[in-house]
Amino acid sequence: MNLSQFPRRRYTVGSTPIEKLERLSALYNGYAIYCKRDDLLGLAGGGNKTRKLEFLMADALLQGADTIITCGAVQSNHCRLTLAAAKKEGLECQLVLEQRVPNSYKRYASGNNFLFDLLGVEDVHVVEGGSDVAGKMAAVAEDLRAKGRKPYVIPGGGSNAIGGLGYVACAQEILQQTFKMGVNIDAIVTTSGSTGTHAGILTGIVGNNAQIPVVGIGINRKKEPQRQAVYDLCVKLSEKLNLKEAPTMDDVIVFDDYIGEGYSRVTEGMLESVKLLARTEAILLDPVYTGKTMAGMLDLINKGYFEGKKNLLFLHTGGAPALYAYLEPFFGQQ
Ligand SMILES: *Cc1c(COP(=O)(O)O)cnc(C)c1O
Repeated sequence: MNLSQFPRRRYTVGSTPIEKLERLSALYNGYAIYCKRDDLLGLAGGGNKTRKLEFLMADALLQGADTIITCGAVQSNHCRLTLAAAKKEGLECQLVLEQRVPNSYKRYASGNNFLFDLLGVEDVHVVEGGSDVAGKMAAVAEDLRAKGRKPYVIPGGGSNAIGGLGYVACAQEILQQTFKMGVNIDAIVTTSGSTGTHAGILTGIVGNNAQIPVVGIGINRKKEPQRQAVYDLCVKLSEKLNLKEAPTMDDVIVFDDYIGEGYSRVTEGMLESVKLLARTEAILLDPVYTGKTMAGMLDLINKGYFEGKKNLLFLHTGGAPALYAYLEPFFGQQ
């Protein structure tokens, strides 16, 4: 698999570390839990979107774009990082924010929302939950074109066949690193959201014939539609890469038991996992993605799902800046 054929910008120096979580592992007899620290990727605040943006921004620049348009929830890490990448490249950036929880957009809110302002977003367009967000982005792009500007639209989460390459690259990075470390990983656990991360990793693992199961923990959609969405992107990525070994539907593993009442809604398991990782490993998880994913992984360990699989790799996809918009549930639960 040759990823060098695709144009790429670089926003991270070297590779993100893989750390053994000694104190967390000690609580789970017989398991060694490793963490791929993608929360330490480059661009403001780090997190998984940085890897996708390396390929997406290279494409935007190649097309002569002067403005990036993307979308996300009101506390979107993806919007923060896309804006950061745009600024780093000297481009403007406009955001379409979807209020998935009614009235959740607050102009002066903390967390990522504050960073939109600090990083110099050109314009924010707030739409109601369930609206045609892609349609809104297209309309914003059309307005800009009418003014002689050159917009480039990045879909939600940067999860298309270009952005997904970032996580195919991450799979290769993981295989190289664990080989050097002399650690044979038995399973990889990742959040499964807009699918770029899950599909990218899975395509990279299967494309390298590495035979490591990739377990996706859902944070939004139900299991079957999520599996289908991940699979669809795997197909696009495998075609783009011309792979001989491509993921099948059987390779796509998703659990939807840890979503709670819905996307970005607080769960007991999330609060406990965020606190546990802070207090055992001094690692900050986030309330929307990695907190729920960690809750899922630990519950699956307790239930014996990983029986016979000793070395687990948790992919930390970032998101800690959103913690500062969630003070209430944390303080309320002390
Ligand atoms: C976007 C995001 C995810 C989910 O990644 P997808 O590629 O959208 O599935 C996980 N964790 C964090 C912190 C994110 O911002």
